[in-house]
Amino acid sequence: MYAAATDPGRVRAQNQDRLYADGSVFIVADGMGGHAGGNVAAEVAVSETVASLKAGHEPEEAIQTANRSILERAAIDVALEGMGTTLTMALMDLEDAQADLFNVGDSRAYLLREGRLTQLTNDHTYVQELVDAGSITHEQASTHRARHVLTRVVGVALDVEPDHFRVPLQLGDVLLLCSDGLINEVTNAEIAQVLGSKLPQEAVDTLVRMANNHGGSDNITVVVVRLGDPDREPVLLAQEGQRLAEAPQVVPQTERSLKTNRIPSPLPANMTERSAISRPLIRATLFVFLLVLFAGVVVLAIDIYAQHSYFVAAFGDRVAIYQGRPGGVLWFNPHVVDLTNIRLSQLAEGVRSQIQHRITEGSLTQAKQFVRNATQQFHSTTIAFGGIG
Ligand code: MN
Repeated sequence: MYAAATDPGRVRAQNQDRLYADGSVFIVADGMGGHAGGNVAAEVAVSETVASLKAGHEPEEAIQTANRSILERAAIDVALEGMGTTLTMALMDLEDAQADLFNVGDSRAYLLREGRLTQLTNDHTYVQELVDAGSITHEQASTHRARHVLTRVVGVALDVEPDHFRVPLQLGDVLLLCSDGLINEVTNAEIAQVLGSKLPQEAVDTLVRMANNHGGSDNITVVVVRLGDPDREPVLLAQEGQRLAEAPQVVPQTERSLKTNRIPSPLPANMTERSAISRPLIRATLFVFLLVLFAGVVVLAIDIYAQHSYFVAAFGDRVAIYQGRPGGVLWFNPHVVDLTNIRLSQLAEGVRSQIQHRITEGSLTQAKQFVRNATQQFHSTTIAFGGIG
């Protein structure tokens, strides 16, 4: 069961996407280059590939034939010079329950299995190479100014090297082929939700409508193939908030080639370095860390200053030794560490005045010494009084 649609979108004057779907061969081509070039390149790519397949040629050979045909057309018409196209093709082999995928460029194939959406193809773009090299992140790639620069295109160089993936299939699998006009407007989560809950025709219509509602800035092409009993209703598989696989889980059968069909123009260094983003972050983190460290040292110093000094003062009418500073330091309030039985009224006038004015700061030893002296005066006074009495 399958459905397919292509739509110009809401911004582009014409649709340079082409598609083909016949139940066993499915192709999406996204043409580019000039006013007419993109149309011609995509058109020729699809028609020549299909014709070559039907003539019994191997898929890689069919794509080579299409590649040459586009070059030949460009050679005889100056207006078409430099035209090219992406090409994503799925050949379904339902007897062996597998699909052969071929890809050149940045149109994509996805597989939805048990609610999980997996991207099967690798983009042949300059930013994808930067991501693979670890130079930029997936997030940076999606907004990178060179994200549309392709490193492999059909119809630009004498040879084209498509990626080839073989994907084992099972009942309930949903295969999606699409151009970047869908990917740039609709999230993976939204795609998984639609593919998991709707039959192919409704899924295709919904995805095209969503891409248009989100801006429709490019041509939109969607092909949905569902493997299963056509009488059975689709089970709602995609769940809200489910983690979607970012990396393809299917191992490519051919190694990705570094050979490029189009040399991308050099990019400003600040756009190609991951560190351009992370360096200010590291600086900010270090600054906050040093600030906290400094604050900690200040607090510790105040603490030592406040807690390691003592003074003698009145507690009610009794003499007490306080830890801290008279009046307190910031949030460190002085507190009594030794409450004596000596009453202020029993002390000599000079000593009492000193205590009342809290002018007796120092160490604990000094504070105790002061109290001892005051006590001795108190005793001598008593004796003196006793002497008189
Ligand atoms: Mn496009």
